[in-house]
Amino acid sequence: MFSKDSQTRKCARQLDKMSAHVGEARRVFRECFGGTEPKIGVFAPGRVNLIGEHTDYNGGFVLPMALPLFTAIVGSPRDDEKICIITMADGADEPHRVEFEAPREGRSLTPGSPKWSNYVKGVIQHYRAGPVPGFNAVIASNVPLGGGLSSSASLEVATYTFLQQLCPDNSDPIEKALACQKAEHTFPGVPCGIMDQFISVLGKEGHALLIDCRSLEVMPLPLMDPGLAVLITNSNVRHELTGSEYPARRRQCEEAAKILGKDTLRDANLGDLEAKKGSLSEECYRRARHVIAEIERTSKAAEALKRGDYREFGTLMVESHNSLRDDYEVSCPELDELVAIVLEIPGVYGSRMTGGGFGGCTVTLLEASAAERAKELIQEKFRGSPTFYITKPSAGAGTLSL
Ligand code: ADP
Ligand code: MG
Repeated sequence: MFSKDSQTRKCARQLDKMSAHVGEARRVFRECFGGTEPKIGVFAPGRVNLIGEHTDYNGGFVLPMALPLFTAIVGSPRDDEKICIITMADGADEPHRVEFEAPREGRSLTPGSPKWSNYVKGVIQHYRAGPVPGFNAVIASNVPLGGGLSSSASLEVATYTFLQQLCPDNSDPIEKALACQKAEHTFPGVPCGIMDQFISVLGKEGHALLIDCRSLEVMPLPLMDPGLAVLITNSNVRHELTGSEYPARRRQCEEAAKILGKDTLRDANLGDLEAKKGSLSEECYRRARHVIAEIERTSKAAEALKRGDYREFGTLMVESHNSLRDDYEVSCPELDELVAIVLEIPGVYGSRMTGGGFGGCTVTLLEASAAERAKELIQEKFRGSPTFYITKPSAGAGTLSL
């Protein structure tokens, strides 16, 4: 299930040719590092979650797919123990160039500023083989930063993949994804679930991935019907609530699970919840209702996908959105508006907010022939300035042929 060898290589070549940002990264590397060509090139994709939102940290199911948008890192080893990294991302905080010593026994990396460097340093610190040699590298990405398409995990997984080229390790893909998750927990300090790193490592071209976040089992589900499209619409809004509300939701879920006498909400059903309704605050009850129902919806959606029943899949997406809006309260007017507009169009199966919420993107499953119309109608009616991506499920991280 995990061998992606020839398929990944083929895809890597395609990505390499397609992507202007890889060429730019190579140019910047030559400019900044003495005119030499980088010896190593890697990529790791962002992702969109089709259904299963805020279920990963509750041990539930998620159903993401890897995107043809990715973080690329090009670089070369150095003779000393220095690491010098440049990011080309406009949205990253300054400075865009950092230098530090590679970790050694008695010399650990610690989080600091700029913030973006923590995603990279965390992975270097938690790399499962070593010692990591010194290196120069340039990072370039076409995953929007902070847009809910997981630029952060794609940066972590790209960093890990880069280190594997420099200093091979024998980790399996699950260990690799878990090391990247640990990096995000401990350096930038974001208590994320496992979905983003898993899909960035394990994504498979033409497939969505059903991930069981309790057992860590992964099941690829074909999603390659040429008559079907996945439209991502970035609202380009981000409400400031994101930082504080995510840990608050996690706490409420833990509290609800405890009151229900379960390890996680994955182990509860709606009957258990109703039985304890009186012991939960009204808000905690609704949070738990979202999570329990969403886990169920995600299983049903996976079954619908296996049958090619896109109508059922779309209905579940809309139910997911409504539950995130009303019970989990992580949507916002812009995302609600985007969903409402696109659902007016014939050929649209379903649409929902995707990612943590309070801004970011919606994901829409629709007939490929309806995609242009969907974009037009959103442009016409939506109050903001959206960005669109019509995407296909793509491969997980790999090397670039430079
Ligand atoms: P998302 O993962 O949804 O894009 P996050 O807030 O989790 O949003 O992660 C965004 C952060 O990740 C950025 O603010 C930046 O610190 C870091 N990041 C992501 N991609 C890059 C990149 N190419 N270069 C530098 N930093 C990046
Ligand atoms: Mg992220």
